[in-house]
Amino acid sequence: MRKNIVAGNWKMNKELPDALKLASEISNMVKDESISGAEVIMCVPFPYLSTLSKLVEGSEVKIGAQNCSNHESGAYTGEVSAAMLNSVGISFVILGHSERREYFSEDNATIAQKVDLALANDLSPIFCCGETLDIREAGTQDDFVANQMGESLFHLTEEQIKKVVIAYEPVWAIGTGKTASAEQAQEMHACLRAKLSDKYGADIADEISILYGGSVKPGNAREIFAGKDVDGGLIGGASLDSRGFVDIIKSF
Ligand code: PEP
Repeated sequence: MRKNIVAGNWKMNKELPDALKLASEISNMVKDESISGAEVIMCVPFPYLSTLSKLVEGSEVKIGAQNCSNHESGAYTGEVSAAMLNSVGISFVILGHSERREYFSEDNATIAQKVDLALANDLSPIFCCGETLDIREAGTQDDFVANQMGESLFHLTEEQIKKVVIAYEPVWAIGTGKTASAEQAQEMHACLRAKLSDKYGADIADEISILYGGSVKPGNAREIFAGKDVDGGLIGGASLDSRGFVDIIKSF
């Protein structure tokens, strides 16, 4: 049975004192309010990974990273390897976020290399895919997103693909306040699961969590998460507020 997951993507926000406050508020609320409907992950900036992992140790909340290098190790100034993430106890990493694709020119092939390194180092990739507004308006979003997934993931073995979490994030809905309708989200998730099923079989496709991301808030989470192929969310802006983030988790 696939897991429900709510992952926060803090992006490049919060300096250390605020990061400590936010992480402890979230882990305390998850404990105090006995939340158990979904696995909770906070994907935080690199400098806080170790500190926040220790802070939430023993709680239901996990810490994840937002990226890793497509190189194994060596002379790549400023990069952080998948092995380094593993060595500080991290088990999830966001890969292929649309902001990385847009501002850092990451393409499907580069993301495939990152996925391989993440898996080789016992990290579960949270693989992001999603179409821009012009693609949605042209009506070609299903093929576009399926192609992103195919080019970055479909070289994986059955054992490997089961460790991947997929996040469908329409680019036009990220940070814009525009959310895909619950129907649009469910439609794309069903399409991605059908492609996974064609490639890996229905049993494996059924085990893979597919999250929706794009302006999810406490007020719309319940409706979006109700889709039968929607297994949770990747939450940007709303993950920076402890009460709002925990209310989103409680939508399950
Ligand atoms: C994201 O960046 O992954 C995201 C979904 O952002 P937001 O929730 O702010 O749209």
